[in-house]
Amino acid sequence: MSGLPDGVERREFDGVERLATRGEPVYGEPTDGEWRAWNPDRSKLGAMLELGMDTGLAGGETVLYLGAAAGTTASHVADFAGPTYGVEFAARPVRDLLDAADPRDNLFPLLKDARKPETYAHVVEPADVVVQDVATRGQAKVATANETFLRDDGRLLIAIKARSEDVTRDPEDVFADVLDELESTYEVLETERLTPHHDDHLGVVATPR
Ligand code: SAM
Repeated sequence: MSGLPDGVERREFDGVERLATRGEPVYGEPTDGEWRAWNPDRSKLGAMLELGMDTGLAGGETVLYLGAAAGTTASHVADFAGPTYGVEFAARPVRDLLDAADPRDNLFPLLKDARKPETYAHVVEPADVVVQDVATRGQAKVATANETFLRDDGRLLIAIKARSEDVTRDPEDVFADVLDELESTYEVLETERLTPHHDDHLGVVATPR
């Protein structure tokens, strides 16, 4: 099994071992002192770590997070990473994302469309890691458009949701097409289905070509 980033540990909560980070609670998750449980059933990146994928995360990285929503996962990332830019285009979850960012000096919410990276290029610094969980059609296009932010040796950690591309097709066929499209810009290093935490999702680790 691959290592966890510094700042992420396995700890016991009510007798059950779970991933945990240190920070202010955000979504009613169990806490133990300053530690907060990271629920892989509510977080694709949490599931990727739980399943032992080699994310390359060591802790302290600069992260661009696409599809930050209310900050469930982005807040855990900010607990162990460096500057964390959270892009989300829906105004409603951004209100909660702002609350999650309030006690976190390194979490920067951006009310922006991840399909238009030129609208936040002036704010975001070069990233070691792009995390993507947008769950909309055109997931490969979003990843390709944002490759510009990644350092040469950086990592793309993407959760591909098959049903967002086409509910009628076999997920395996959808994944194959999305990977094919990703491969024009990225070298895919690892893939793994995120079951049992998330149905019909593929976790992918990739690096810029
Ligand atoms: N990653 C979140 C977490 O674990 O806490 C959950 C993300 S949810 C599955 C997907 C989010 O992506 C939604 O909040 C949606 O509004 C957002 N999204 C979809 N397309 C987007 C786009 N083009 N730009 C920015 N956000 C987008």
